Amino acid sequence: MFLTGDKMKDVFLKAKRNRFGIIASNVVFDTQIRAIIQGYAAANSDGLMQMSSGAVKYAAGASQDIKIGAELISVMIKTFAKQFNNAGIGLHIDHATPNYFDFLVYCIENGLVTSVMIDASAEKMEENIRITKEVVAVAHKYNILVEGEIGHIKGTEDEIVSDTELYTKPEEALEFVQKTDVDLFAASVGTNHGVSKGAKIELHLDLIKEIDDLLIKHNCERGLVLHGASGLTDWQQQTAIKNGVVKINKDTHYQMDMAAAVQAFWEKEKYAIVCPPDISPDDYVPNKSKFDPRKWLVKGEEAMQATVKGFCEMSGSANNSILL
Ligand SMILES: [Zn+2]
Repeated sequence: MFLTGDKMKDVFLKAKRNRFGIIASNVVFDTQIRAIIQGYAAANSDGLMQMSSGAVKYAAGASQDIKIGAELISVMIKTFAKQFNNAGIGLHIDHATPNYFDFLVYCIENGLVTSVMIDASAEKMEENIRITKEVVAVAHKYNILVEGEIGHIKGTEDEIVSDTELYTKPEEALEFVQKTDVDLFAASVGTNHGVSKGAKIELHLDLIKEIDDLLIKHNCERGLVLHGASGLTDWQQQTAIKNGVVKINKDTHYQMDMAAAVQAFWEKEKYAIVCPPDISPDDYVPNKSKFDPRKWLVKGEEAMQATVKGFCEMSGSANNSILL
């Protein structure tokens, strides 16, 4: 079922108390939405779907009207999630920069989402706090959760490009949380957006614990968020969860799985749509039972469903839905 913001708050509270992680999955297409919600349900896990600014533009088609795109994704998720009473599904806006402020307000006021991320991390701290506070003021009126961020996460994610890497300072995290009252806090601990390999990343997992301990000590415990987690090892992610992370963002991994599954299908079934060299084009008949999109897209769907189920088992959210 689709969860409201206050229910999603319960999800994160349970995750924090029992030290497991909620997988937040970036989606655009209906294929991904089906795969990922079914994956959460197969794992008896709650989960968060995420749409980036690029995703809502894409979803709207040629108009690139982000409100249309967000409405479309939201209605697909809400409708599809209705079928499952063993998995609570939320919808989050990922990395909305301050120029998307009006869009965030639109999504909040129209009940499209469960939570939003305002990413003003490119601004100076004081300005980041001011903008984030404004979003929190609107969101909390509608029981919508807010994720904020300070520092930069290395790599590329849609319109966010950062090649410098700044680790979050615990004292700044404390100041940011106290002044903004965000519900979720994205810490920069050395992860990369996009494709990366765990071994090459200088990950500061102790920094997560340092931030978490400091927030708890000052009576403002929050759920910490790990971005750019697709290239991390299971152990790295599980350590991050143990240290205070409750939300792990996943995007790239699904994209690779989907592409690989579809590529494998077409490598095997190439001549269903391409005339083989030993047959005359006049005699060639393409094979509709193979090129029907339902036949090959479903391969990507099955792969993504297995991936998210595996993520939930890895993060400990499997069999831990608040709906059970
Ligand atoms: Zn991110």
